[in-house]
This record gives sequence, structure tokens and C-alpha cells, in this order.
Amino acid sequence: MNKYKWSNKYKWSNYIRANRTENLEDEAVKIMEECLLPPGRYCDLDDLEVLQKEAFPQFQIKVISANQGDMIIARVPERKTTDMQEIFLLLDNEHFDLVTTATGFYCSPYFCNDCDRTYHHKERHHCEGKCRSCYRNNSDCLVENPINCTECSRGFHNQQCYEIHKKKRKNGKNYCEQMFICQTCGVFVNLSSRGKNVRHQCGES
Ligand SMILES: [Zn+2]
Ligand SMILES: [Zn+2]
Ligand SMILES: [Zn+2]
Ligand SMILES: [Zn+2]
Repeated sequence: MNKYKWSNKYKWSNYIRANRTENLEDEAVKIMEECLLPPGRYCDLDDLEVLQKEAFPQFQIKVISANQGDMIIARVPERKTTDMQEIFLLLDNEHFDLVTTATGFYCSPYFCNDCDRTYHHKERHHCEGKCRSCYRNNSDCLVENPINCTECSRGFHNQQCYEIHKKKRKNGKNYCEQMFICQTCGVFVNLSSRGKNVRHQCGES
């Protein structure tokens, strides 16, 4: 098994989003000092399991491989529980570096932790892990009291899911105006992926 080394120059600052637990940075440094894998020591992917269990039980560690086109090659543990957040490590020339944020690393406005893909438009990213109506994680949008919108004819899992689609966005429009089931032809229309001021015409291809 290959052994990898922790880079000495990794940065702890901002390795997770600023709005996460306060003082987590200090805590993480302390943990690393006490932990089994201080900078400079060689370790492999099996060691990551130990590191995750011992030091970061509240996180899922995702390993990005620089040699494989910055693909995520390992998740520890493979399946995360809903209360876990993610930590990203870059495996590059046999050493690990902490990645500050996945969006920063991939230079993309969004990174989906469910399918490990980047995307540029919330409303064009569809995957199993996201609510198709409000684009939050499924775990944040449980089916509690389903609501149907009389204007767009779409269904929503709960009150908040419904309210999100009514909120004006940066472009001055809300999802309700841009994504709807046409009451004449019954087709689902998504205007958000079209040019400005383009309208739906029944029968269009
Ligand atoms: Zn996704
Ligand atoms: Zn929703
Ligand atoms: Zn609506
Ligand atoms: Zn129509």
C-alpha cells in the first residue's frame, strides 16, 4: 500500500465554511497535535479511517486526487449521516493537503456533496440528494405538509419549500414565475435556462 505524507504547509484557516462551528479551527489544530497523523508522518487511506473516527467523527473526509483530474477517489466513511459535514483533502504527489473549500478549489459557485459534482446554476442541478422544488438537500426538505401552488401548479414538500419558490431572486423573478406546469398544455416549463424575456408557447419544441 502506498504511503502518503501530510504536507507541512497545509492551512487550517477557512478549511471549512466560515459559518460553521466557531473555534473549530483551534479545535482542529489541537486534535491534529494530539492525533495519530501529525504533519510529516506518512499515512495511507486506511489511516484516514482511523483519523476520521478518532479526530473528526462529525465529518466525512473526502479525498480529491490531483493525479486523477481532481476527482473524489475516497469517502470516509463511505456513507455519511445527515448531521455530518465534509472535509476535503487533496492527495497530491503522495501527500495530503487540506482543501479550504470545495467551491474554492473547483472554482465553481456550487459543489454538490451528494453527487460530488460542481454546478453553476442551482435550478439546473438535479440529483437524488436535492429537493426538485427548492434545491435544498432532501434532509432539509422533508415531506411534512405537501402544498400545491395554484399559480405554477407544482407541488412542494412543506411550507418553507413553498416559500422559497415565491422569493424574489437576484434577477427579480421567483421560481414560481420561471418554472411551472402550463395550465393550457400541461407541459413542465423551465424558463430559467432560457434567455431573458423568452416566454413559453404551447406546442413549442
Ligand atoms: Zn448533486
Ligand atoms: Zn423543497
Ligand atoms: Zn408557484
Ligand atoms: Zn403551454
